Amino acid sequence: MEFTGYPRLCPCGTGSNFGVCCGRLISGAAQARTAEELMRSRYSAYAIGALEHVWRTWHPKTRPDDVSPAPGVEFIGLTIHDIVAGGPDDDLGVVEFTARMRTPEGLDEMRERSRFSRRAGRWMYVDGSLPDVPASDAPQTLSFPAPQT
Ligand SMILES: [Zn+2]
Repeated sequence: MEFTGYPRLCPCGTGSNFGVCCGRLISGAAQARTAEELMRSRYSAYAIGALEHVWRTWHPKTRPDDVSPAPGVEFIGLTIHDIVAGGPDDDLGVVEFTARMRTPEGLDEMRERSRFSRRAGRWMYVDGSLPDVPASDAPQTLSFPAPQT
């Protein structure tokens, strides 16, 4: 697949060069070790139009026939909010993120809690949902009845 020029800095926002960050995953030279790495590489693939990587890393059970983003959308930034499991020794992982984009109608953003599973040793995107509550508003601790005096 042909790209119209790789960015020098990785679109996923790590500050690393594309080639040593998501580029090596998108090209197939390396496999994502964690769910977060896969999530970042999928974002970068959308950002540079490498839809083959998006398709290849989408679980076959949930993958749509067409993985193209809406026409005219340009991805301009990624923020990761939360990561649950998804490490090198896990089989499941959750990554919550916001992707910012420029659309024909103006700036937009999408926040999603994505689920990943490891299948035959490879991390795959399973599905995503809108977070129920913004993380900053979620209860931070379980509450217990106050001790009786
Ligand atoms: Zn990257």
